Amino acid sequence: MSVPTLASDRSVCTPLPVLGCDVRVPLVTGGEVTYAALDYAASAPALQRVWDDVAAYAPYYGSVHRGAGYLSQLSTELFENSRADVAAFLGCRDGDQVLFTRSTTDSLNLLAAVLPAGTRVFVFETEHHAALLPWERRADAEVTYLDAPRTPGQAVETLEQALAAREPYGPALVCVTGASNVTGELWPVRELAAAAHAHGARIVVDAAQLVPHQRVDIAELDADWVAFSGHKLYAPFGAGVLAGRADWLRDAEPYLAGGGASRRVARGASGEVEVDWHDGVARHEAGSPNVIGAYAIASACKALTEAGFDRLAERERQLITAVREGLAAVPGVRVLSLFGPGAPSVGVLSFTVDGWNSSHFAAALSAEYGIGVRDGLFCAHPLVRTLVGGASSADGGCGSDEGAPLNAIRVSFGAGTPDEH
Ligand code: PLP
Repeated sequence: MSVPTLASDRSVCTPLPVLGCDVRVPLVTGGEVTYAALDYAASAPALQRVWDDVAAYAPYYGSVHRGAGYLSQLSTELFENSRADVAAFLGCRDGDQVLFTRSTTDSLNLLAAVLPAGTRVFVFETEHHAALLPWERRADAEVTYLDAPRTPGQAVETLEQALAAREPYGPALVCVTGASNVTGELWPVRELAAAAHAHGARIVVDAAQLVPHQRVDIAELDADWVAFSGHKLYAPFGAGVLAGRADWLRDAEPYLAGGGASRRVARGASGEVEVDWHDGVARHEAGSPNVIGAYAIASACKALTEAGFDRLAERERQLITAVREGLAAVPGVRVLSLFGPGAPSVGVLSFTVDGWNSSHFAAALSAEYGIGVRDGLFCAHPLVRTLVGGASSADGGCGSDEGAPLNAIRVSFGAGTPDEH
C-alpha cells in the first residue's frame, strides 16, 4: 500500500497524488484504518490552497457593498474579483452574469423563479432532483418530462422530437446534466444546445458533476446558463454559481426581496411601499452575500486551472478503468450504465452486488476496509429505478422511497484520491 503516512491529527495534509505538491487536500484517519474517501461526487474535500486563501483573507474580513471603510472596500473588491475569476473560469460571454447562490439546487430554483411567464420546460426524467423538480413550482410553466434515452444520440433525437411536437411556443427552456451523478456518463451538451437553439429554446446545464472533472466553457458549449456547487469543486459548503444570459434575470422579479437588491425604496402617495430593483447581479443577491464562499470558489477555479484538467482527467480515467476491471472480476457485480459499456464518463461509477443490500455493502466497505462510498438512489430516483430495475427501501440522504428491494453503491474520484489503498 502506498498510502501517504498520516498522523492522527485530522488537519494533516499530504501532497495530492494527482495534482502535485502545490495543491493539497486534508486527509483524515479513521481509528487504525486509513480512510479513503471515494465520494467526491457528493462533496469534494476543499483543497488546502482554498483553505489557505480563505485563512489569509480572514484578518481583513469586512462587510460587502455596505461600507466606506478599508475592510469593506477590500471585501467588496475581493467579492467582485471572485465573480470575475469565475466568469473567466467558465469562459463567460460579454453580457453574461455570474450570480453567487447557495448551491446548484439554489441556482436552478433561482432560474425557475425568473422564467418568463408560461415558459415550456423540457427535462429528462434521468436528472438529479435538483434539476428535475424546480420547474413544477412555477404554476404557469408547462413541463415536459422526457424518457430516459439509451444513447447520447437518442437523447438528442428525443429532445428534438419533443421540441418539434410542441411548436410554436414562446419562451422555452431545456435543462440537462453535463455528467450524471449516478453513472458518471457525459451527456451530449453541445448537441442538445444546438437542438434547443434550432427550435428557439434555451438550455441550462446542470454542471455540478462536470466542472470538477473537465473544463466547462459556456460559450463553447453554447449553453445559456450553467449551474454548479462550490462543495463539489474543492471549495467549502454553502456557495454555488448560476452563470449565463442576463435578460431573463434582468426582466424578472428579484429571487429574494431585501436589501442589496433594491436601489430605491420609498413610501408612495397612498402609503404603499415603492421599490426600484437593481438591474445587474445585485437584483438576485439580496442580503449580505457569502463572500468567503465566493472567494473560495474562485480560489478553487484558479487552483484547478493552474493544475490542469488534463492531468486530473487522465488520473481519473486510470482509476475508473482500474475499478471497472476490478469489479468485472467480482461475481454478481453489475455496473450501472445508461449509454452502454464504454460510454465516455467522468470519475463516477455506480454498481449493485447480487444478494447484497447496497447500504449493508457500503457499511461493510467503510467498517472493514476504510473505504467511504455513497449508497442509495443518489437524489435521482427515476434514473436509479430505470437502471436497477426496482425501487429502494432507503435512499442514502434524499428522502425515503418506500417498499423496494435494492439501491446502488457509488464510487467517485477526485483530486485527492490516493493511488492505492
Ligand atoms: N446536480 C447534480 C448532478 C448533482 O450531483 C447534485 C448533487 O449531488 C446536485 C445537482 C445538487 O447539488 P447541491 O446539493 O450542491 O445543490
